[in-house]
Amino acid sequence: MKVVKFGGSSLADAGQIKKVCDIVLADPSRRIMVVSAPGKRNDKDTKVTDMLIALAYKCMASENSYKTQLEAVVERYASIAKDFNLGNEIIDVIRKDLQDRINNRPEGDDKFMDLMKAAGEDNSAKLVAAYLQSLGVDAKYVNPKDAGLVLSDQFGNARVLPESYVNLQKLANEKSLVVFPGFFGYSPDGEVVTFSRGGSDVTGSVLAAGVDAEVYENFTDVDYVFAANPRIIKNPHPIPFFTYEEMRELSYAGFSVLHEETLEPVFRKGIKVNIRNTNNPSAPGTFIVPDTGDPAFAPITPVVGIAADKGFMTIHIEKYMMNREIGIGRKILQILEEEGVSYEHTPSGIDSISIIVRRTNCPDGKLARITKRLYDEQQVDRVTVEYDCAILMLVGRGMTRTIGVSARATNALADAGINIRMINQGSSEVSIMFGINEWDAEAGLVALYNEFFPEG
Ligand code: ASP
Repeated sequence: MKVVKFGGSSLADAGQIKKVCDIVLADPSRRIMVVSAPGKRNDKDTKVTDMLIALAYKCMASENSYKTQLEAVVERYASIAKDFNLGNEIIDVIRKDLQDRINNRPEGDDKFMDLMKAAGEDNSAKLVAAYLQSLGVDAKYVNPKDAGLVLSDQFGNARVLPESYVNLQKLANEKSLVVFPGFFGYSPDGEVVTFSRGGSDVTGSVLAAGVDAEVYENFTDVDYVFAANPRIIKNPHPIPFFTYEEMRELSYAGFSVLHEETLEPVFRKGIKVNIRNTNNPSAPGTFIVPDTGDPAFAPITPVVGIAADKGFMTIHIEKYMMNREIGIGRKILQILEEEGVSYEHTPSGIDSISIIVRRTNCPDGKLARITKRLYDEQQVDRVTVEYDCAILMLVGRGMTRTIGVSARATNALADAGINIRMINQGSSEVSIMFGINEWDAEAGLVALYNEFFPEG
């Protein structure tokens, strides 16, 4: 059994939805489909989710003029329904649904915002189910509440609660083709709550884990995941397969193929993920697999992918004889913990430790408090902060016990005239992180890419 998820660009208009349904119907093992809200039809277009967010803000500002925006959302669905000759009934259902959400506005702006955002995928699923039924397919829209998708009440950033997996098992026995809206579920109190943006990927993964699917197919608009960002590297190498761990390392450093929390549910069950293209379904796509030692998925090259990400800063802390002071590392990190700042890497020397954090996680006020506490409570000698820091990540299981990978990388960066500010490699040897100047990020990526993926 396969769970198949389609992103917003795959549902942007009737032509795209037709492709989606053709894909699902072409393989009888595709029993559950998860859909996003209609996305952009072209570069100038607006995603339905963004239209709904704007509509929610209008309502929150008590502006009576929201009707125009409501109608603009309805029109997105209406144009699809018209192309499918579905009649007006489904459009009336969608208009009423939106109006009901506004009329029954819950207390609390965050709750209302989630209720409105969820309308995008909810109505998308209803429309796709109606289209499939019009073709004579035994398809059925399933509401996440009825299916038991229970999420924490962190509005706009929910997490899946464990009972969901038990509840969702029953979908495996569903005779009809299930059309399930992505992105939202219900809190234990029965309120609509969404994942963070892009969260339909997570819904698909949770369903795949719940029904013990053989594969979780995630259809998007690229043939493969590529070894480096195609906006910087022209025609980068496609990646036929990689492991969850490799994917995690790459997405951490800027590969934005899947929502960050997507892999956790399938990882626990060892379910393969297949990233594929709605616009080119014959391409086999990229597989994300568990690292079981299966020779079919043995690494082909030492490095599988290279990522670059900007927006980091380094808090460099010096204290004479630091290496002899038991507990100093914990005490320093505890200050960050108490200030609610997560850290990314901590390369250290005998008398110093550098803490790399994302700039967005550590605004000036927090940084000032952390610095003061380091001096006052830990009597450190010096704290220096460097901004404009980027990281380059070289990722691949094939690097493990392969001699010379970091030598090749550092030489390539040196030849490109790029200064390395930090290096960090864990003992699993699956990734090497280079801290460099932000303005060198693109050139660094190109240098490493050309070294590890030479032409041909
Ligand atoms: N429609 C939602 C968003 O744009 C969720 C998704 O597409 O995954 O973020």
